[in-house]
Amino acid sequence: MQKIHALMEKKTDNYLLFIVLVFVLLFSACTKEDEPVGEAPDDTPDNLIIKPNDFLSESRYIKLVVEITSVQGFEPSAAAVNQMKVFLENRLNKSGGIIIITNSIPSPGKSSYSLADIKEIEENYRTSFPEGKTLAAWFFFADADYAKNEGNSKVLGIAYSSASMAVFEKTVHEFSGGFWKPAKEILEETVMKHEFGHILGLVNNGTEMGKDHQDTSHGHHCNNEDCLMYYAAEHSSGIIDFLSGGSVPALDAQCREDLKNNGGK
Ligand SMILES: [Zn+2]
Ligand SMILES: [Zn+2]
Repeated sequence: MQKIHALMEKKTDNYLLFIVLVFVLLFSACTKEDEPVGEAPDDTPDNLIIKPNDFLSESRYIKLVVEITSVQGFEPSAAAVNQMKVFLENRLNKSGGIIIITNSIPSPGKSSYSLADIKEIEENYRTSFPEGKTLAAWFFFADADYAKNEGNSKVLGIAYSSASMAVFEKTVHEFSGGFWKPAKEILEETVMKHEFGHILGLVNNGTEMGKDHQDTSHGHHCNNEDCLMYYAAEHSSGIIDFLSGGSVPALDAQCREDLKNNGGK
């Protein structure tokens, strides 16, 4: 019936990530995202490149600020944001704490967002950046769909570059609520955690695998269908059924082990 289709594309730079979490409705085939990542930070000094280990360990950063910039009316629910914070606290060594900053902006008036549009909004509105011992990540909650949606597949969220993510909250609204759909906060929580999982280097994308559990036919995702980092089942007994049970999939043991081995908890 429905499935979440997520994929990640890795360019030559190991830490430049481009991950897409896609809703594929009905029986449509999985779509491959081929959009270029954009400006590769080829001239960025090594010590300024943010790596999954920087989130997981305390070797460079002891504190994390997660800034969430939403278009007015498309803010994530407080419950979802809080659950994402708990998720990060359970996995990241950040003795200085994890702080969430939320702010809202007027609608840019777009009917859809390309990756370039999202990067422009980040440039215009993002205020938190790594500084001293404090690391920063950024989410944009959009009031329109992803420009690259095709057919009946819709992208729910993307992770791009090393610490930036977008959630297509209008699309989240469309596919949540109602008796056959997951609750809005459950879907938001799933997408936020899943995208952050990619920023943390899952699966085999900046965080090495202990045992092989990568679903290579679906990019950098986990082969455990009960795992938060699972790509999609080919059949209707997929993740939406699981979400409609009212709970968000957790990271499985192998994904947790990988994070631990890369400096996490
Ligand atoms: Zn994904
Ligand atoms: Zn997993």
